[in-house]
Amino acid sequence: MKIVVASSNIHKIQEIKNFLKSYEIYSLNELIKPFEIIENGKSFKENALIKSSTIFNTLKKDEFIVLSDDSGISVEALNNAPGIYSARYSKEGTDIANNEKIISSLHEKNLSESKAFYTAAIAISSKYGHFCTHGYMHGIITDTPKGNNGFGYDPLFIPQGFNQTLGELDEKIKIQISHRSKALMISKYVFKLLEKIS
Ligand code: IMP
Repeated sequence: MKIVVASSNIHKIQEIKNFLKSYEIYSLNELIKPFEIIENGKSFKENALIKSSTIFNTLKKDEFIVLSDDSGISVEALNNAPGIYSARYSKEGTDIANNEKIISSLHEKNLSESKAFYTAAIAISSKYGHFCTHGYMHGIITDTPKGNNGFGYDPLFIPQGFNQTLGELDEKIKIQISHRSKALMISKYVFKLLEKIS
């Protein structure tokens, strides 16, 4: 089974490759020149499906399954912002600027932390149709970045049951508990089904 990961985020691609070790995985740029896809969906699911179906229709190769990830963090004290706008939360859109905006938004509310959760929607597009799975990781977002592991909001996020941020925790732990891994675990059943009918 040939799976193309429709993402240009190297961190996401690596996490997906680590989780799906037994599959034949291709990055998008190995097959086509990546192009901009307008993610104008109203949910993680809609955006993930926009990405996977656009790439599947562009590739025009029925032997490939296209997998995409749309993900982000929702902070309870910020009315679940940034949510689907996680990548573009700050004007600059860099991880550092996004984290600074989370910290300043918490401080504006006189808070140093809040409950938060990550969501990942994994969409799968194939000649048999389009599917989407979800995974969540709950925890606390703090105003003190710690550690260099992971990416995005990981230095601010302490998963439930731990007392260190994902920036500090070993990446082997993230792969066991993350929103992405949970969504990918369910995706494996979709792959099995697709293998059976093809
Ligand atoms: P997307 O590429 O539009 O799905 O944006 C995802 C954004 O959500 C990333 O740029 C990160 O800011 C954030 N995000 C998603 N998953 C993670 C994660 O596992 N760790 C840290 N940040 C994440």
